[in-house]
Amino acid sequence: MKSTFLWKLFAVFALIAAMGLLALRFADERMTHLIILVAAFALLIASSIGFFISRSFSRSLHDIIDVADRIADGDFSRKILPKRRNELATLALTINDMGEKLQEHFDELRRQKERLQTILDGMVEGVLVTNDEARIELMNPAVCTMLGLDVTSLRKNVLECLRHRDLHDSIVRVLHEARSEEKEIELLRGNEKRTIIIQTAPLFEKNYGVSGAVSVFEDVTSFRRLENIRREFVANVSHELKTPLTSICGYAETLLSDQPSDVSSTRFLQKIYHNGLALQKLIDDLLNLARIESGRQPLLKEPIKLYEFCEELHELYVDTLRAQMITFENKISSSLILSADRAALRRILNNLFENALKHTPAEGRIMVSAFQHPKNCIVMIEDTGSGIAYESLPHIFERFYRVDKGRSRDVGGTGLGLAIVKHLMHIHGGEVAVESELGKGTRFSLTFPLS
Ligand code: ADP
Repeated sequence: MKSTFLWKLFAVFALIAAMGLLALRFADERMTHLIILVAAFALLIASSIGFFISRSFSRSLHDIIDVADRIADGDFSRKILPKRRNELATLALTINDMGEKLQEHFDELRRQKERLQTILDGMVEGVLVTNDEARIELMNPAVCTMLGLDVTSLRKNVLECLRHRDLHDSIVRVLHEARSEEKEIELLRGNEKRTIIIQTAPLFEKNYGVSGAVSVFEDVTSFRRLENIRREFVANVSHELKTPLTSICGYAETLLSDQPSDVSSTRFLQKIYHNGLALQKLIDDLLNLARIESGRQPLLKEPIKLYEFCEELHELYVDTLRAQMITFENKISSSLILSADRAALRRILNNLFENALKHTPAEGRIMVSAFQHPKNCIVMIEDTGSGIAYESLPHIFERFYRVDKGRSRDVGGTGLGLAIVKHLMHIHGGEVAVESELGKGTRFSLTFPLS
């Protein structure tokens, strides 16, 4: 039965009852009884209909509240089946619809969560998520094994769980400064020392800012071990080759000084001597690089008057500059003081200067300049030489990378000069960058942090 019909019926009987009560004023005694009877009957029927309507209304409402409660608790299995077609039925259908849509969203969220969990569980790298107070919120099995964590570590502070000040400070820095950071740490697992690289990035939340940080842990112990073996092997071989090579060069030089009458012998001896020298330079560079990389190169920073330092460097190359008709310009302010290791700085500038000389044609220019900033000092060496092709720029700091192998060997290059520069800048806490345009020239920028 349609509810509007019941409402109409209720209204009609209620009206009859009301009209009966009104008519009582004007009725005579005989009619009064009849009117009372009719009004009482109409009132009875109106109240019965009213009771019926309100009972079915409250039942439907109860059903709707029950299903809405279940939806709020995450149970989407119950549906409301409206018995009548009224406004409550429309509300019930809307709630059913809302429940279905919510279930779809929840299913999608669950699927995404499961996918993320599978990825995290399968990752070789450790993942650790902390909140904005550096308390652990999420960790994957790899990080638990790597750092010896378990479920009891959840909600605890990183410092409390790991007792590693550097790692804790790195996470706190990322949270405060809202920028990513890479850190290498050493951890003791049992009796074994593990080397771990940690990349930490801030997590942002809309209208809140940094809400936490995510750290990815990569165990590079075996990689570092292999690197050490390689470094030691190269250092040992280079060391073993050094003595025989010195003898070869020495004997060739002695024989050359005797001025052999035979032209071919002179030519052969010259070749032996020059190639020996090139090999000696290569071995020296290899040994230097191995020493710097192993961290055995002590860094003694001292204040250096950069203008004078570059003038001394200029003195060394004054003949070559004149012979090659290249102009040298020292644009550094005479008051600028740089804090650096003197020997390391000499090697860095020598390598860059020699490269500029090798690749700058006659009538060209080599310039050095420097700028002091609040946090660092930038030293630049520019030339108007051949320049470096754009695709070679990312590789020139790699060991043995040469843009033009033949030409590099001809001009006495070992392919290690820029790798040495890069490592020396790293141990200074700085970095080297390059800009270049083919046919126009090259600019190397050295950024030294101010201590
Ligand atoms: P090399 O001993 O061969 O010079 P480096 O490591 O010093 O090795 O340099 C790597 C390569 O980068 C060089 O072979 C050269 O091709 C290129 N290069 C370096 N400096 C310059 C420069 N100033 N102008 C042009 N090319 C350069």
